[in-house]
Amino acid sequence: MDIITLGDDLLRQKAKKIDKIDDEIRALAVQMYEIIKRDKGIGIAGPQVGIMKRIFVVQIEGEEEGRVFINPSILETSVTTNKYEEGCLSIPGIYANVIRSEIIKIQAWNEKGRPFTMEASGLLARVILHEYDHLEGVLFLDHLPENKREKLIEKYEKAKKK
Ligand code: ZN
Repeated sequence: MDIITLGDDLLRQKAKKIDKIDDEIRALAVQMYEIIKRDKGIGIAGPQVGIMKRIFVVQIEGEEEGRVFINPSILETSVTTNKYEEGCLSIPGIYANVIRSEIIKIQAWNEKGRPFTMEASGLLARVILHEYDHLEGVLFLDHLPENKREKLIEKYEKAKKK
């Protein structure tokens, strides 16, 4: 399973709802965990591996258990924000400070097909919002001022050519 990188149109498309949480989806989640481990990421979404389904996996360093989010809805986002440096497995080598809500509430289904609602803050909230964006075809660069975004894309393209 390969990671799709910036420039691929799939990263710009909206992922589709998962109708049935079955063995195929569970196997996909396992593969996604493996990619996070391999590439030292903390989260990955379906579209990043070319699977246009509403699923993402989060595994924050230091936390034993990862979490699978299927058909997620962001229920609440705090007005309070924070700024933190983000990167993306689909845009290797590029990092930038992104402003996001500090606390969120999300509802989703896990790989067993059970619905859950949780509140998240700090890094976990940030990763969830970043991965949720991927399901909507949005990248972290889109949250930056245009001139900053253009500079980073230029930098990425240059590095890619080498
Ligand atoms: Zn990403």
